[in-house]
Amino acid sequence: MVAGTSTPNRGQPACPGPAGVPEGGDRADVLLRVKGTVQGVGFRPFVLRAATRLHLEGWVRNDPQGVLIRAAGARPAVDSLVLALKAEAPPAARVISIEEQSELSQADLGKSGFVILPSETECMEIETAAPPDLALCPDCRRELSDGADRRFSYPFINCTQCGPRYSILESLPYDRARTTMRAFRMCPKCQAEYDDPADRRFHAQPDACPDCGPQAVLTESTGAEVAWPQALGRAAAILQSGGILAVKGVGGYHLMVDATNAEAVAELRRRKGREEKPFAVMFPDLASAREFAEVSEEAAALLASAAAPIVLLPRIVRSQLAEGIAPGNPWIGAVLPYAPLHLLLLQALGRPVVATSGNLSEEPLCTDENDAHRRLAAIADAFLDHNRRIAHPVDDSVVRIGSGGPLLLRRARGYAPTPLPLPGRVNGSWLCVGAQMKNTLAVATGDRVALSPHIGDLDGAATREAFRRTVQTLGTLHGGDFSAVVCDKHPGYASTKFAEETGLPLVAVQHHLAHVLACLLEHKRSADNILGVAWDGTGYGEDGTIWGGEFILLQNKEACRFARMRPFRLPGAEAAIRDGRRTALGLAHAANSGKFAEIASAVGFPAGEAATLRAMLDRGINSPVTSSAGRLFDAAGALLGIGGRNRFEGQTPLAVEAAASSVRSPSRTLPFPVLPAAQGAGASLELDWEPLFGELWTARGEGDDPRGLALAFHRALAASIAAVARAADVGTIALCGGCFQNILLLDLASSALREAGFEVLIPRELPPNDGAIAAGQALGALWNLTSVRLP
Ligand SMILES: [Zn+2]
Ligand SMILES: [Zn+2]
Repeated sequence: MVAGTSTPNRGQPACPGPAGVPEGGDRADVLLRVKGTVQGVGFRPFVLRAATRLHLEGWVRNDPQGVLIRAAGARPAVDSLVLALKAEAPPAARVISIEEQSELSQADLGKSGFVILPSETECMEIETAAPPDLALCPDCRRELSDGADRRFSYPFINCTQCGPRYSILESLPYDRARTTMRAFRMCPKCQAEYDDPADRRFHAQPDACPDCGPQAVLTESTGAEVAWPQALGRAAAILQSGGILAVKGVGGYHLMVDATNAEAVAELRRRKGREEKPFAVMFPDLASAREFAEVSEEAAALLASAAAPIVLLPRIVRSQLAEGIAPGNPWIGAVLPYAPLHLLLLQALGRPVVATSGNLSEEPLCTDENDAHRRLAAIADAFLDHNRRIAHPVDDSVVRIGSGGPLLLRRARGYAPTPLPLPGRVNGSWLCVGAQMKNTLAVATGDRVALSPHIGDLDGAATREAFRRTVQTLGTLHGGDFSAVVCDKHPGYASTKFAEETGLPLVAVQHHLAHVLACLLEHKRSADNILGVAWDGTGYGEDGTIWGGEFILLQNKEACRFARMRPFRLPGAEAAIRDGRRTALGLAHAANSGKFAEIASAVGFPAGEAATLRAMLDRGINSPVTSSAGRLFDAAGALLGIGGRNRFEGQTPLAVEAAASSVRSPSRTLPFPVLPAAQGAGASLELDWEPLFGELWTARGEGDDPRGLALAFHRALAASIAAVARAADVGTIALCGGCFQNILLLDLASSALREAGFEVLIPRELPPNDGAIAAGQALGALWNLTSVRLP
């Protein structure tokens, strides 16, 4: 039963009327269970204020399942409270359900009036959501800059609407004693605020002030320490002079340098060993961001939201930002100061800084001073630390904005671990271990699934260690023992191997099916009459080959592979994933059109190397077969001379998208036929890339503008998706997989499908990429829908 669709049970027997309710008047006395993100977001004070305003009696309290409310009074007032719980909840709260409990006897009404009761901890089922970390709110921002306020310039100011949450949480329910803030004893003034229902810091768990809370300190390269507030001026001076500063923030360390100082940026790149991957930039405020990038209204709202993600913005070409921030990239990852410490530092400096994760390339974030000082010693010139311990690492989230709205590329701070509702109940507690790249974990308990923040690529030992620690964290937050584990079908994924080693009952869900299921989960759809378009780089297919250009038809809770990309070989496997020129040769070999040598020479392979690659392909040595759509972007980039090498994941596809986005019209229309697949192909239809690449090659030879061809390439792909959709007898198409991080492809495919009369589902709350796999695995296990049938 959910508020808004129902009201408290009117058939309930009348109880003796509490004081304040007219004798004989229609009255109600209810026990309400509220689930969702309702702890650590000012929910109990909000209930208290609403109930007091409505002259209700009773109480509210946190317990491991969320919030429980006992409310008694005039029936219209109780009904109003139920409506208010959803309609007027604090901005950071997220109410998933409000249910009326039948056993009123389990909880006394208590004394007269409405009160907040202490948390109930001895519940067996720990279900409540750990709240995400929230950016500095406008009220705290005002106090921070108010010279008369006792928290003036205090870098750890927070309230019920802002501040750290998941990053300081040790166990649930969310109360100060179960956060790393338990190390700080509140002073009488803070305690008074914390205890006063009328105060905006009432039960703000990380409440603190300069007298009683965490402190920041700067450590110079010499080891000398500078205390606050002198540390602030010194930190700004180090940045000003081109130094590299490690800054401990909310969920981990950032490395910062002046973003307008090209030499400093180049030095950071050199020390970090991060050749070309773009750096994010933190701007002092929106006005500053607008000097360097195009900030739409939607982007501005996202940047200033409580989640405060990194938002990819079109870069203004002739701005003062150092080119080395994102070499050759038309977008810039912008973020606003979300912690008070960041804001004070950026205000003192008065210009944007690079704010990249405090780690070595491909390693997890540093969260602890000792670890940071050791691992970042060769990178940072100084450290701006603080003594509020980070319980779990949380990266910055990353968002792109398409014509249809925002797209989460990395779901972490501000979003995770907010749970999503499941369309059914899980017995016990399932650990879903996700994929290999962009790994996230999920725990399904009760009727919802909570995802960990982004963990990273499990290729490195340090990230695998972070993965194991996150398993423990989720175990602690969700009541200990897992009863089952859900993984990918890829036998080589570190996550799959971990799942097997747990010894728990194991369910494996096919990778691309998990992509489609994640999209259905967030859109609350059943597995019926839907065509899932799962396009990504690589994923383990049901036939043991590498899939990645799949159309999965869902009918009556069954999955079938309806269409696929025509397969080809990747010479050198992983080497081909890093070098799209190899993929171009894989296509040339499969097409067998006699142009192998010509293409090999044009993309820059010496004759000897080309011959070796051809021999590998002839014999199928280390050249796995794939139906990947993502790899086609690599090949297109190589053939068009736009890119070829992927020095970071997705580099070439991003360059192809950027080239295509820089022109208004395609230079021609490229063919991309959808044909009946051969017997035994494992799909009904096949998309044939051969005419597409044949004409692309010819057009390139005729001197067509590569950017116009890149746009034609995108359009051909979008048209092929619509063609397959028309052949499938369904009304709804779900677009998912890493290829749809490409906003141009997503927009073109969505509009082609909508023009053809289809409803289109797009990932919104979860990333299109492998960051959503764990959520899809949970739904697959719940529905016992784990395999894709091959026709
Ligand atoms: Zn605040
Ligand atoms: Zn205090």
